[in-house]
Amino acid sequence: MEPVLEITSLCVRYGPVQAVHGIDLMVPKSGITALLGANGAGKTSTVLAIVGVVPAASGTISILGKDMTGAPPDAITRAGVAISPEGRRIFASLTVEENLILAGSGAGTPATATERRRKLMDRFPILGERRGQLAGLLSGGEQQMLAVARALMSEPKLLLLDEPSLGLAPQMVDTIFGIVEELKAEGISILLVEQNAALALEVADHAVVLANGGVAAAGVPADLAGKDILKSAYLAA
Ligand code: ATP
Repeated sequence: MEPVLEITSLCVRYGPVQAVHGIDLMVPKSGITALLGANGAGKTSTVLAIVGVVPAASGTISILGKDMTGAPPDAITRAGVAISPEGRRIFASLTVEENLILAGSGAGTPATATERRRKLMDRFPILGERRGQLAGLLSGGEQQMLAVARALMSEPKLLLLDEPSLGLAPQMVDTIFGIVEELKAEGISILLVEQNAALALEVADHAVVLANGGVAAAGVPADLAGKDILKSAYLAA
């Protein structure tokens, strides 16, 4: 089956800084690929290249079999990709509902966007209860749910989750990972960037470990869990 995302030999540079050099990565249909590695390993740069926010210096990015290398962010969204970014990036001074309204501005007709908001508030009842509350007043976990809900407003085929568990209490981390598994069961393919490697390996079908901008290891979780390569990749930064 055609992968939802296929990256070959991707390089990302910021001026003289080579953040990513020559990585290969694949997310299968309805699968979860974990992208692991220490701070500065190149995970976020990879994600930002996928959504067209930073350019690929070389290499290719294909989405559902179509070469999207160099395509602008709106074209990537239309191709079925959405991101829940590192740090969540919700609008703290807007309400929960206003955050979803803004995220849905490209979601077809106003009626479609309204229907999608309604469905998301059913799915995340806490967001429904707090729809009129300022997003900045939500707990960290609720803000993460809102960030995921924002990404789901475009009904993506591929969801990029950048550090969804960062800074959350353990119980909330479990909730967020439960949501990740539900989304997969619904057929959404996921690229999961995580600093919590052990948890990510529990839900992933495949994992890629980055170190210093390159692939240090890749394989199925059973082959990577507890391996020295994973530990050394986390100590490499
Ligand atoms: P973190 O978990 O800390 O975000 P990461 O694995 O996501 O780490 P990146 O953020 O992709 O790593 O960073 C990879 C490398 O690129 C690092 O050396 C970082 O300092 C550098 N880098 C990232 N963004 C920029 C930028 N805008 N300008 C210059 N260098 C950058």
